[in-house]
Amino acid sequence: MMVIYQTVMIPITMAERKRWTKQARTILDIIYTNEESLTASGIYDIAREAHPNISLGTVYRNLKRLDEAGLIRETTSNGVSVYFKHPFSSAHLECEVCHSIIPVDIMIDVGDINRRTGHVVKKWDLRLIGTCKECEGRCI
Ligand SMILES: [Zn+2]
Repeated sequence: MMVIYQTVMIPITMAERKRWTKQARTILDIIYTNEESLTASGIYDIAREAHPNISLGTVYRNLKRLDEAGLIRETTSNGVSVYFKHPFSSAHLECEVCHSIIPVDIMIDVGDINRRTGHVVKKWDLRLIGTCKECEGRCI
């Protein structure tokens, strides 16, 4: 049986999930079920509901390990680290006024790029910089 996280192309088998601690799995689930970007302290606040004794240090350690394993991605929003789903969903709309970052689904044919260029794409990070609808509304 596989757990396929929504909107993500990475299938995570139950065997792979079992390699991670309960706390790491909770953090993974928090990141994958939130559409918004989350800071480590935001993740910590949610994780404490399931694991009242979890420490912020444990959250940071697990975020680092999950990032290294390619299951999540760390990026920065206005100088603060925020965490998102798997790298292949790493396309974001960034507002240059309020610095909000919103994930957006964009399909890129990585296989085609690899075939045409000989390059082996492992992940991508796309920022579409502009003005969010709230900030754009204020300017009118
Ligand atoms: Zn904005």
